[in-house]
Amino acid sequence: MAKNRGKSAPQRPTQRAAPQRAGRPIVAIVGRPNVGKSALFNRLAGARLAIVDNTPGVTRDRLYADARVYGRDYVLVDTGGLDPESEDPLKQSIAAQVHVALAEADVVICVLDGTAEPMPADREAVRLLRQSQVPVLHVANKIDNSNLSHQAKALYRLGMSDLHEVSALHGHGTGDLEQALSRALPASSDDEPSEEAAASEPTPPKIAIVGRPNAGKSSLVNRLLGEQRQIVDERPGTTVDSVDALYERDGDPLVLIDTAGIRRKRAVEGGLETLAVLQAIRAVERCDTVVLLVDATLGASQQDARIAGLAIERGRGLCLVLNKIDLLKPEQRDAALKKAKDVFAFAPWAPTKRISARTGQGVSALMKQVRTVTANRSKRIPTGEVNRFFEEILSHHPPPTSGGRSVRLYYVTQVRAAPPVFMVSTNHPDRVHFSYQRYVANQLRERFGFEGTPVVVHYRSHDKKRA
Ligand code: GDP
Repeated sequence: MAKNRGKSAPQRPTQRAAPQRAGRPIVAIVGRPNVGKSALFNRLAGARLAIVDNTPGVTRDRLYADARVYGRDYVLVDTGGLDPESEDPLKQSIAAQVHVALAEADVVICVLDGTAEPMPADREAVRLLRQSQVPVLHVANKIDNSNLSHQAKALYRLGMSDLHEVSALHGHGTGDLEQALSRALPASSDDEPSEEAAASEPTPPKIAIVGRPNAGKSSLVNRLLGEQRQIVDERPGTTVDSVDALYERDGDPLVLIDTAGIRRKRAVEGGLETLAVLQAIRAVERCDTVVLLVDATLGASQQDARIAGLAIERGRGLCLVLNKIDLLKPEQRDAALKKAKDVFAFAPWAPTKRISARTGQGVSALMKQVRTVTANRSKRIPTGEVNRFFEEILSHHPPPTSGGRSVRLYYVTQVRAAPPVFMVSTNHPDRVHFSYQRYVANQLRERFGFEGTPVVVHYRSHDKKRA
């Protein structure tokens, strides 16, 4: 229940819509441990979690998820849990969480325990959030039934002008919270620019350079841009995106989304790891190809695997990069590559490049690869050509029968590019075995050169297609 009891409290622009930014908006949940952040996260993300968890090979802990409110898609992030490699979950202070959320999120949800006296960390969070321009929703959680409502009273003394009393566990009050959230989201932006729009207004492909802190992102961007750094986007209200830079060497221009540059500008203290994840999420949302930098001396982390998984879910091109190769002996280089292949085993089609941003070794080969991947992602295969190949596949390796029924695949068309999506018409869409689906996708990838891009193949009932 949203209540406006704090009439005397200082008024803040809680419902002001954030400036419009490209990609899905990011909603960050902050709060001290044990207030029920993950319960609220699960409640808001709801059934969508199941979809997100499906990415093959990526064990996704639930720290960010696709969510939808009133028809708007957004990315929900549990900011408190984003740094799984920090041994001490409390290490990440509330101030760091809040700073990171304010730097990168479009809306912040601050969760408080509605059944407890506010603690110093709660006061600090509310105080820091009060100064922000980002819309903030305050939540008194654990109000499992209306009898408990009086317990939230203590929280009103913190002086926020809104407080949504909810039970994340049971769902009470979350409808009102979602309504408030939908109002707080930034005005709908170019979530998924249509292909028509892309065709009429050609813009250079966007390349997101992401990775953990110190992976060498700035070093790479500096090497690529040198002194000729040119800021692409300086429109007011798009400050977050203002470190996009144009890269114009060896061919058509590319826009580099330099997430490290964002960090420098904002000089956020603490929570660097978390910030890097949030920036990566945002950059993945609005790019064509992801260049994921890994410090080769440390190897790839689960966090890196999650970002790669997100890139695949979003249908982005993916280049994996082992940086700082100059610090490794030749025999260590092969071991590093093998290790990376293991971590990213769910995307064997993503090229892995070894570079040194410091010496420049491998950098131009990397950029060549980035261009190839980006082009592969936009390729369109004529229907005749793809069907001729499909017939070959079927004659060599027809789909296995399923439950005694023969599965027929009739024809295939590419229905979309960037990323490539194919539609196969069949008599039994539900009976095409997963391993056979993978076989078909791999065959298409090999034959038509889709290295570095996810390839999506849907199966549709023959009759429906005709209808
Ligand atoms: P970012 O946080 O990802 O932007 O990382 P930086 O570009 O700031 O690099 C972190 C540190 O690693 C800096 O001290 C860099 O000089 C160093 N570094 C980056 N790339 C390389 C490399 O290829 N070789 C070596 N030896 N050091 C590197």
